[in-house]
Amino acid sequence: MRISSGLILVAMVAYSLAARALPLEAAVPGGLVLVPLGTAAQAPQAWFQDKRVAVLRDRGGWVALVGLPLGLEFGVHELRVVAADGAEAMKPLHVAAKHYALQRFTVPDQRKVEPLPEDELRIAREQQRLGEIKAAFRDEPGLEPDLKFRQPAQGRLSGNFGLRRIINGLARNPHAGIDIAVPVGTPVHAAGAGVIVDTGDYFFNGNSVYIDHGQGIVTLYCHLERSDVRPGERVAAGQRIGLSGNTGRASGPHLHWTVIANGTAVDPRLFLPRATR
Ligand SMILES: [Zn+2]
Repeated sequence: MRISSGLILVAMVAYSLAARALPLEAAVPGGLVLVPLGTAAQAPQAWFQDKRVAVLRDRGGWVALVGLPLGLEFGVHELRVVAADGAEAMKPLHVAAKHYALQRFTVPDQRKVEPLPEDELRIAREQQRLGEIKAAFRDEPGLEPDLKFRQPAQGRLSGNFGLRRIINGLARNPHAGIDIAVPVGTPVHAAGAGVIVDTGDYFFNGNSVYIDHGQGIVTLYCHLERSDVRPGERVAAGQRIGLSGNTGRASGPHLHWTVIANGTAVDPRLFLPRATR
């Protein structure tokens, strides 16, 4: 009997290790769902709202990781799945409602909240660039995205994902990431392995580093003092990519961290180990 209970323990540990490679599910706007797609030899492809989604290996089968936009209506949505032989199927996604709290705060630089007419061209150009980065789908055969993310800087969580925001008294977009309160100059590390897709000084995001982890999973690190990496460079999980700062539209020194899946921002905490969530 001792042997069989030992075997059960080993099986449970193996199961939890295997399960740890995938993020947590939260079937709400701003969350994500994991949809089993069978055990065919070749990976199927899947689309949600015409955006391709990540399809990952999981315990001998395939699973789609579907990011749910913050503005998504609750109810039943559909995932379009195309098998390697071309057979098409629709899978239902059940999405519950979620209420996000309201946050009011002040940004000292009013121009970052109410941009001047001469800022508009720059902002439009940066929005277009960010749109391209979020929409990219890098699918390299045999290369699985590394989604066992680590928190990119150590510090107190000072701003939750999804907060509806009033900045300097004006309604602005909801919070598309999490804020980690850290002093200027704190090392910032890549959440997972990937390729640097862009760095630079963005009007709202400030000095930023954007990392593509493959299959439409992208992470953004914003308001940095400086970045230590260049576009095209490959980074390892945990590699230092820059120093935190207070640049762009920021109310004080902190690191803003966003996780994108199929073109939409989802709650980064779903990708972190349980202890840090
Ligand atoms: Zn933020």
